[in-house]
Amino acid sequence: MTNPVHIPWAQPKLFGNEEAMVLDALRSVWISGGPYVQRLERVAAERMQVAEAVAVSNGTVAVELALRGLGIGPGDEVIVPGFTFVAAANMVLSVGATPLYADIDEQSWLLDPDEIDRLATPRTKAVLPVHLYGNVAEMDAITSRAKAHGLVVLEDAAEAAFSRFDGKCAGTIGNVGTFSLHATKTITTGEGGLVVTNDAGLAQRMRVIRDHGMRQGKRYWHDVVGYNFRLTNLQAAIGCAQLEHLDDIMADRRRIHALYRNALNACAGVRLQHFSQHVDPVLWVIAALIEDDDLSRQRSRRDRIMAAMLEDGIETRPGFYALSLMPPYDAPDLPRVLAASAGVISLPTFFGLTEQQIGYICDRFRHHVHNAG
Ligand SMILES: *Cc1c(COP(=O)(O)O)cnc(C)c1O
Repeated sequence: MTNPVHIPWAQPKLFGNEEAMVLDALRSVWISGGPYVQRLERVAAERMQVAEAVAVSNGTVAVELALRGLGIGPGDEVIVPGFTFVAAANMVLSVGATPLYADIDEQSWLLDPDEIDRLATPRTKAVLPVHLYGNVAEMDAITSRAKAHGLVVLEDAAEAAFSRFDGKCAGTIGNVGTFSLHATKTITTGEGGLVVTNDAGLAQRMRVIRDHGMRQGKRYWHDVVGYNFRLTNLQAAIGCAQLEHLDDIMADRRRIHALYRNALNACAGVRLQHFSQHVDPVLWVIAALIEDDDLSRQRSRRDRIMAAMLEDGIETRPGFYALSLMPPYDAPDLPRVLAASAGVISLPTFFGLTEQQIGYICDRFRHHVHNAG
C-alpha cells in the first residue's frame, strides 16, 4: 500500500506570471533567443549586484563556460572539493584540465581553504569552491590563499543563489560564479544556468564562446572554438517571472530554515550543516549529518533512516558520494569527505512547505535516528 502522505524532497513553485510570460514569448515567435534572455541577465545581475550575467542552457555548461572563458585547459590544474555535486569535477575533466581534490571543512562540508596551500603547484590555475545546500565556503580565506598562489577563483554557486558572505552574493566574490536554474533550484527556468562576473573582458569572451565562438558583428567569422550554450527565450521567460518573486522566495526559505533549526538543533546523534557568522544563507536544502565514528555503520544507518522516512511518505536524499569512491575520478580518499559522504542526509525543502509538514518530517526523522541502531 502506498503511504497517503507524500512530501517530495523538492518541487518548483510557479507564481502565475510564468504562464503569461511564456505565452508572450511564444506569441512573439522569439522562441530561441529573445528579449527575455537579456531581461533575465539584467535582473539577475542587478539583484546580485554584479556587473555581468550570461545566461546559458544549464548549470553544468555554466561551469564549463567559465572554465573555457578563463582559458583553462590541458596542462592546467584546478582545485575542487572531494565532496560535491559532480558537475564541477566533470567540467574540469571535460576541458582537459586536471582536478586536484581538496578535503572539506568538518562543520560546513565545504572546501577547506588550508587545502589550497597543501595542493597548489606551479601548474595550478584555479580553485573551484562549491557552495553546497545554500551555505557559502570561507571566501575571505579562499580568495587570499588564491591570490598568494596566483589562482583565479571560480565559485559553483548553483545551490547558493542569493546567499551572502560578508554581505556579497555567493558567485560574485571570486573572479566568476555559476548558477543552475534547474527545477529543483531556488530560481528555475526548467533547465538553465547563469554565469556572473565583474570582469567585462571575461564576460565578453564567454558570450562569444556561448555562441559558437562567432565574432560579434562579423557573422560566421570564428576567432575561437565555441559551443552552443544558449538559453531559450521561452525558458528565460519563466526565470523572469520567478525573479519577480525573489523577495518572497528568500523570505520563505528563511522561514523554513528557522523551523528546521529549531526542531533539529538539539537532536542527539545529528549535526546540522554549520553556517559561519559570515554567511547570511538562502537555504537550498536542509542537510544533517548522522554522527557515527565507524564509516560503514554510519552509511548503513543513514541509508536505513532514508528508507524508513520513505515509508512515512517523506522523500530524502543522501549526501554526495565521495569522488574517490567512483571510478572516473582517480581521487584520493580524504577523511572528512568520506565522513560527509557516509553521513549526510537532506530533507524536503521547497517554497510553501508548511509548519505542520516540517513538524511531521522532524518527528519522524528524530524517531528513526533514535531507532536506527
Ligand atoms: C544543480 C547543480 C549543478 C548543475 O546544474 P544543472 O543545471 O543541473 O546542469 C552544478 N553544480 C551544483 C553544485 C549543483 O547543485
